[in-house]
Amino acid sequence: MSRFLSRKYESLVAYTPGEQPKEMKYVKLNTNESPFPPSPSVITAVTNEASRLQLYSDPECTDLVSASAALFGVKTDEILMTNGSDEILNFAFMAFCDSEHPIVFPDITYGFYSVFAQLNSVPYEQIPLKEDFTIDVDDYCGINKNIVIANPNAPTGIALSLHQVERIVRTNPDNVVIIDEAYVDFGAESAINFVKKYDNLLVTGTFSKSRSLAGARLGFGIANSALISDLNKIKYSTNPYNVNRMTMAAGYNAIKDNEYYMDNCKRIIVNREWTKNELLALGFTVPDSKANFLFVKSDRISGEELYKKLKQRGVLIRHFSSDRIKDYNRITIGTLQQMEIFISKVKEILKET
Ligand code: PMP
Repeated sequence: MSRFLSRKYESLVAYTPGEQPKEMKYVKLNTNESPFPPSPSVITAVTNEASRLQLYSDPECTDLVSASAALFGVKTDEILMTNGSDEILNFAFMAFCDSEHPIVFPDITYGFYSVFAQLNSVPYEQIPLKEDFTIDVDDYCGINKNIVIANPNAPTGIALSLHQVERIVRTNPDNVVIIDEAYVDFGAESAINFVKKYDNLLVTGTFSKSRSLAGARLGFGIANSALISDLNKIKYSTNPYNVNRMTMAAGYNAIKDNEYYMDNCKRIIVNREWTKNELLALGFTVPDSKANFLFVKSDRISGEELYKKLKQRGVLIRHFSSDRIKDYNRITIGTLQQMEIFISKVKEILKET
């Protein structure tokens, strides 16, 4: 830390991203990326757009917003595109949370929520998940605080039903409820249609997982036009060109190729259920996941040891060291071939123990 860092950031603990190794070709099952490449038209569009990089990008993301609004069944003033969904989440903390409007979220969830709260000096409360890692919806009803919930939750993969989401939104009419749908395309139900009914709901989404664009950084928020206008105020006060030309071209063509990506999601769901059954047969505890990952624990080996031994064998998974989940690992679902390698290495390791 330098002498110059503002005191307000002295105790800020930054988010730790998952490993992005360069040195060895791993079977990479640690950061919830898609194992499938972008569709050919995305690659062509990005390549063509490179020749126009001397020009700023369209701050309104006009074509991408129109295509996305049509796909999601909303109006163009009900959607805002951002540099990954991390950016829309940060915008939402900046726009709607402060010392008089604290925020709550589960104790086990996406690690960035507490970082955004600290970064923006927002008081926050973490509500413990139940023993089985499910959310007790009653904990969030009528609490009169802002709320952010990942649905499906991360790293558990467990989803709330639409009915449960609606109860939370309906019973907190004077607070913003953010539903983070980063993983919704892998089997959960989207709350997007509720933005027409509730003016306090913000649904966030990303092209990083189901649309194979993690490296391009493209996310979005969908809400009533007044909330979107507030979020635009933050965007135009920080970085009007937050979505670059190549990413915009990639996103537009990904929307046009929606079927390719939704087919890939179906394949990932099949691979997830195959992997789950294999792990159950090996005695693992595996909560029901509606995401592109599984959250798993074995009584025969600690989470950390399994993570380390798999890494030695060229398979990278995600281990979390926080107390309540240190026995667990999160396994991103890849191709069937990758999952077969993963399972065969797990079997090898368990034989040694
Ligand atoms: N929400 C959740 C629950 C996530 O796991 C992630 C990915 N780390 C994000 C949001 C952010 O993803 P991105 O910024 O790539 O859109």
